[in-house]
Amino acid sequence: MTALTFDSLNPATGDVVGSHPKQDAQAVDQAVERATQAARWWDGLGHAERRRRLLDYKAVLTQNLRELAGLVHEETGKPVGDATLEIVLAITHIDWAARNAGKVLGRRRVSTGMIGLNLAATLEYLPLGVVGVIGPWNYPVFTPMGSIAYALAAGNAVVFKPSELTPGVGVRLAELFAEAVPEQPVLQTVTGLGETGALLAKDPRVKKIAFTGSTATAKRVMAACAENLTPIVAECGGKDAFIVDADADVRAAADACLWGAMSNAGQTCVGVERVYVVDAVYESFMRELSERVATVKAGEHYGPITMPGQLDIIQRHIDDATKSGKVVTGGPDSVRAPYVDPVIVEDVPEDSPAVCEETFGPTITVRRTRDTQEALELANASAYGLAGTVFSGNARRAMELARLMRTGMTAINSVISFAGVPSLPFGGVGDSGFGRIHGADGLREFARPKAISRQRFAMPGMNLTSFNRGPAELERLIRLVTFLHGRRKR
Ligand code: NDP
Repeated sequence: MTALTFDSLNPATGDVVGSHPKQDAQAVDQAVERATQAARWWDGLGHAERRRRLLDYKAVLTQNLRELAGLVHEETGKPVGDATLEIVLAITHIDWAARNAGKVLGRRRVSTGMIGLNLAATLEYLPLGVVGVIGPWNYPVFTPMGSIAYALAAGNAVVFKPSELTPGVGVRLAELFAEAVPEQPVLQTVTGLGETGALLAKDPRVKKIAFTGSTATAKRVMAACAENLTPIVAECGGKDAFIVDADADVRAAADACLWGAMSNAGQTCVGVERVYVVDAVYESFMRELSERVATVKAGEHYGPITMPGQLDIIQRHIDDATKSGKVVTGGPDSVRAPYVDPVIVEDVPEDSPAVCEETFGPTITVRRTRDTQEALELANASAYGLAGTVFSGNARRAMELARLMRTGMTAINSVISFAGVPSLPFGGVGDSGFGRIHGADGLREFARPKAISRQRFAMPGMNLTSFNRGPAELERLIRLVTFLHGRRKR
């Protein structure tokens, strides 16, 4: 007989943190049914009341910050400080989504143009109903909350399936929500393994799936969603590049690069994985990087690898990179499960797994480039396109490089800073997925535009949508359209 529950483990110690039900088809069905009812009620509250409730949820989360950070620490192994930081970021996103949903999604009049002079037009963004959120384990609060907060603020009910590695955090997020909104189960968590997420994806009452995880699983989820034409937003990780320009502040660049690559043991979808440094500052950058990395310790500055299976991928990438490249720090022995010490390797061929595939570990490859143009070309040669970084002393060139980077987000002279700006949309291109969470785009992602045109008066002599239309009306139309659109600019 298959087990009805599963345990979440502390990846540092192997201790059981909690036991949770593997929710089956019946349980998921019931959760979605409850969510369908709750969605109607939540929609009926309107923007102002939802804003009040979500700000209350934010306050409850803030009051429970220490306890929640402790749970994140236990289930992921990350230091309590890092867990605190991700919860604080999530709180700022709930705040932004709550305060801006009415403004971004609420009803407004839009211009009708000359031909629609007799019309009034309104646009608003209505909730979808029930949204399914399938979350990852690396940032078990911040990452799913990027979908949950925006979906709730847009007026949807949410059924959340946390990763099987961090179910306790997922359960707690819904319990705390119920303190702020006790009347209806507007946010529910269903626990289980991959199958529980699959059940959610194929339920026709779920009107959108927000997925974060690997590209391979995103394809499976999309295939399940295709059955019902359920749209999805997919955030599938990346292979983010870090470019250092000739006039960059090399010390600041090395410091940021190291943190961007090694914090959270490199288990960050927008973490630094590939570094391209222009020739002129290559030596000085590497000196700074080598000095700094010597002080960074696994188990002290960052935690263990949360998902045991990931250790094999990290080991394979390190083995391959150290065979073909030049080791700066660490090597194959840096993997000492469940920890991985920092690894830096130079001159790894661009077609090797360590450069092409997502490693999701505290490792980077570094390459010297002729100039920023070559750095940009190499950065853009990835199948992924989530985010990236540019360090440069020249604001105009930095902006130009950032715009040309084939990614959803780029940080200049800082790492990952875009994630802390709630008004900026977050998401990727290519194998990194599609759709956006955060910001106004993130709110609209969980809503459907509703367009309404109302005729205010009949246009004399211009009844075009009638079988009674005559040649004179058509002639008038041609004269009007020629006047409006018939002149060439040159
Ligand atoms: P997966 O893509 O396997 O899982 C992500 C989420 O999807 C989890 O909640 C998982 O549940 C769920 N899931 C798994 N199978 C299905 C399915 N058939 N239908 C619906 N949901 C499903 O990622 P992993 O957690 O195994 O991590 C593997 C790789 O994904 C990493 O190496 C990394 O490259 C990438 N990743 C990227 C992240 C990012 O932030 N972009 C975050 C995490 C991982 P369960 O955990 O219960 O299996």
